[in-house]
Amino acid sequence: MTTTKYIFVTGGVTSSLGKGIIAASLAKLLQAQGYRVTIQKLDPYINVDPGTLNPYEHGECYVTEDGAETDLDLGHYERFLNVPTSQANNVTTGRIYQSVIQKERRGEFLGKTVQVVPHITNEIKRRVQLLGKSGDYDIVITEIGGTVGDIESLPYVEAVRQLRWDLGKDNAIVIHLTLVPFLSAAGELKTKPTQHSVKTLMESGVQADILVCRTEHNLPKDLRRKLALFCNVREEAVIQSIDASTIYDVPNLMLKEGLDKVVLEQLNLESSTPDITKWNSFVHRHKNPKTDVTIGLIGKYVELQDSYKSILEAFIHAGAENEVKVKIESIHSEYLNEDNIKLKLGHLDGVLVAPGFGERGIEGKITAVKFVRENNIPFLGICLGMQMAVIEFARNVLGLEDANSTEMEAGSKNPVIDLMEEQKTITDKGGTMRLGAWACDLKKGSIVHDIYKSDSIKERHRHRYEFNGTYKEQMETAGMIATGLNPDTGLVEIVEITEHPWFVGVQYHPEYKSTVANPHPLFVAFVKAALNHKKNHKGVSMAQN
Ligand code: GLN
Repeated sequence: MTTTKYIFVTGGVTSSLGKGIIAASLAKLLQAQGYRVTIQKLDPYINVDPGTLNPYEHGECYVTEDGAETDLDLGHYERFLNVPTSQANNVTTGRIYQSVIQKERRGEFLGKTVQVVPHITNEIKRRVQLLGKSGDYDIVITEIGGTVGDIESLPYVEAVRQLRWDLGKDNAIVIHLTLVPFLSAAGELKTKPTQHSVKTLMESGVQADILVCRTEHNLPKDLRRKLALFCNVREEAVIQSIDASTIYDVPNLMLKEGLDKVVLEQLNLESSTPDITKWNSFVHRHKNPKTDVTIGLIGKYVELQDSYKSILEAFIHAGAENEVKVKIESIHSEYLNEDNIKLKLGHLDGVLVAPGFGERGIEGKITAVKFVRENNIPFLGICLGMQMAVIEFARNVLGLEDANSTEMEAGSKNPVIDLMEEQKTITDKGGTMRLGAWACDLKKGSIVHDIYKSDSIKERHRHRYEFNGTYKEQMETAGMIATGLNPDTGLVEIVEITEHPWFVGVQYHPEYKSTVANPHPLFVAFVKAALNHKKNHKGVSMAQN
């Protein structure tokens, strides 16, 4: 195939309809028919990337192999497709304007007035086609963040209109995701909001080709017919997306509705029956666990589930792999202390101390690490979680009572976690952390060496502070071993406590690399350790394992 085909996914009526999941599910079905597919997200906000956003604002910040700080939808794309995304897969209005303004400063517009149309729209079009032009993909799905009708979405919709014209209608189609609400007082599903949002899109010159309608109830045939008639689409292009108990059901729901078929037909591409056997065996294991484990997720953004999206999904993959339901107990680190720690953590089969930034809630995290270390509860510390494990060990085992991270206490006398040398001169906050995939050598005989079954791995990072190497020998003598080292810099990437049955702290973020096809080995092993803990401490029958 020579030309790359483009699918645009827009949203109408309301936000949070799950465009990312629909895009990822469609991509899965197309991939399972042999097409090379990628998904891109265009975000209409002014931040250059979500790296500077508080998790309460925008959920987790997802990190790609090449070190882009991106929208959490890219996590869904990777988890569904098992194909890495990159910097090019997430573009914000901030980044678009930044490139255009930099070009203007370089004088590249040759004295012309720089305007939204054509300069901003041209930059959007260039970014959309960048992935297509790489030659790596047959189909590029571009999800446009926000809702049509928003002021900030307008340049994107205009770019879509132009691209459809430039590329031809069977090379670029538009899927519009809308809501069909059920009014319980009237006992009816209502099509009017969809009609209006399709009309809003048309005011910008874009006719939707396919409607995906989010609904709590099945859409009857006459309602589909009505939507087709009023919205100028074919009847089979009205797709229902009914609420699902898990996002992993959505590809099958879309298959049943024939979304992949309509899409391929409209793009003039051949369709076949997608082979999703492996996917379905995962869904089956996910839905039919043989037993369960309870894992505490200790963080300070726990009120918002999206803050730890990739961690929660990695537990779903690891749970399915172990045929176990992983029950997550979210625990707010700010309210943990010596007096309530046993009550809050005593019953858990495993504890994960989450990534994070800043001082709030860290003493609770340290108290939690102490409790799990002393009580032999399986522990996984991720990024800040690993740093807290190092501080706890220094304070309570080495007796360095004032040990701290210089992130929390700039003048700490025992800075066991410290800023990297090259970070000390950095003043900009955006995009300046240690980001993306870095190599790590694993120590033979360690837990991690056994888990990864490899001498060297690559994992994704997002942090400024590091284990302070001057304390390494002291720590190791006392039993906290550095079992993963960066081969070039010697930076400590993993720590373990030999005396403990399963205590692992990692400076990187394993959760970003867990996918349905490749559940992350560290999460799989952690869940298994939790299961063993449960068996040993609660006498649970392990016949099924
Ligand atoms: N705040 C810590 C650092 O910057 C940890 C970051 C994280 O957990 N992602 O090093």
